[in-house]
Amino acid sequence: MKKLKSIRLRHNKNTAHCATVDFPVPDEVIIPMSQSMGASCDCLVKKGDIVLKGQKIGDSNAFMSVPVHSPVSGTVRIITDYLLPDGKKCKAAIIDSDGEQTLSPELKPPVITDRTSFIAAVRESGLVGLGGAGFPTHVKLNYDAVKTPINMLIINGAECEPYITSDFREFMEEPADITEGILNVQKYLGIPNCKICIEENKPEAIKLMKSKTEFINSVEVVTLPSRYPQGAEKMIIYSASGRIVKEGELPSHQGVMVLNVSTVGFINRYLRTGVPLISRRVTLDGPAVTQNAGNYNVPVGTRIEKLIEYGGAGEIKKILYGGPMMGLCLYDPGQPVIKTTNAVIACKKAVMPKTTPCIRCGLCVKRCPMNLMPVSIQKAYEARDAKALDELKVLLCINCGCCTYICPAHRRLAENTQLAKALVPRK
Ligand code: SF4
Ligand code: SF4
Repeated sequence: MKKLKSIRLRHNKNTAHCATVDFPVPDEVIIPMSQSMGASCDCLVKKGDIVLKGQKIGDSNAFMSVPVHSPVSGTVRIITDYLLPDGKKCKAAIIDSDGEQTLSPELKPPVITDRTSFIAAVRESGLVGLGGAGFPTHVKLNYDAVKTPINMLIINGAECEPYITSDFREFMEEPADITEGILNVQKYLGIPNCKICIEENKPEAIKLMKSKTEFINSVEVVTLPSRYPQGAEKMIIYSASGRIVKEGELPSHQGVMVLNVSTVGFINRYLRTGVPLISRRVTLDGPAVTQNAGNYNVPVGTRIEKLIEYGGAGEIKKILYGGPMMGLCLYDPGQPVIKTTNAVIACKKAVMPKTTPCIRCGLCVKRCPMNLMPVSIQKAYEARDAKALDELKVLLCINCGCCTYICPAHRRLAENTQLAKALVPRK
């Protein structure tokens, strides 16, 4: 197998030893009606409505959508327009908590009898990929088993971005849910083999999962090198199986399905309890966090500033939703934790070194995991040449940031590649 193009990063997994603690329930939550890839939900509640914890408050008939639920019991204060960090607009419900956390009586473990009821239950749980991408999980599970049969489930436990340890804590704290979740996915979807993929910088997780799956023949724990972006979907498929997902293909075309480890753990918790996705594990860390860095089970909708206050952060110049390589910069700390927020990283400095002319060293090309030519894409972008950008396959960029990181001239390659994508018409 050819070696992956990748980079080495400092891991900074400072919070790996921090067991997950419940974050205090806030006085108010902001629940955007769009928290995943796909269509925004229609709001099912209105101003003044009383809601219960776990109650469904948003849903849609669109194929690519998942319902949203209230993480608190209380009163809907307002339904408002909302701007998400990725620039998407949607409605959001702001709910005042009554402090009681009264559970909706409708919450009960789903009855699962077959593939259809399993997928329907996963949809009702409001689950999206918890690794950060936010792809609706039930859509991924609902592949065409005749046209593209899947024979390998890959559990993505790479967590290759610096600082983030929320998936590591899932391994350490919920190994039974992970194992049962895998067995349920295998059973209801008929997938014969599973590989749990963990980077070598997490030896405790590797040891624990090996012991938990020792007598399960269909499940294997695979140790991967600690390289970035090992956790990117196409990279982990290649590392675990040697299969290459070609341009225009989905993983299912290569007989593979990839699920994040926290996602598969959540599936089992939902099957046990019937409690939908209303809170998630978030790593709070970064150079500006002076106390209480750790992992927290945070109600969805909690304002990020509440976490920052808790972290005793001093002078902050930048707050990231997610890790330093692929995370999104927050324009307002009043924005909420959403289903895809696996980390909040607070930075003291946001200083970008001065950009200098390209020295044609070729490092960006050498390190691009998608075999793109970031330096040429940059030129085509500057010329606003959509045809050249298309020929350079700019749409294949996974926004990993390796090119910017490695460039000795500090050129904004990844940033411009993202902007360049908007110039290319989608086919
Ligand atoms: S951001 Fe895009 S162009 Fe840059 S290294 Fe990653 S995949 Fe390649
Ligand atoms: S890494 Fe930077 S300096 Fe080197 S070729 Fe690419 S853009 Fe030019």
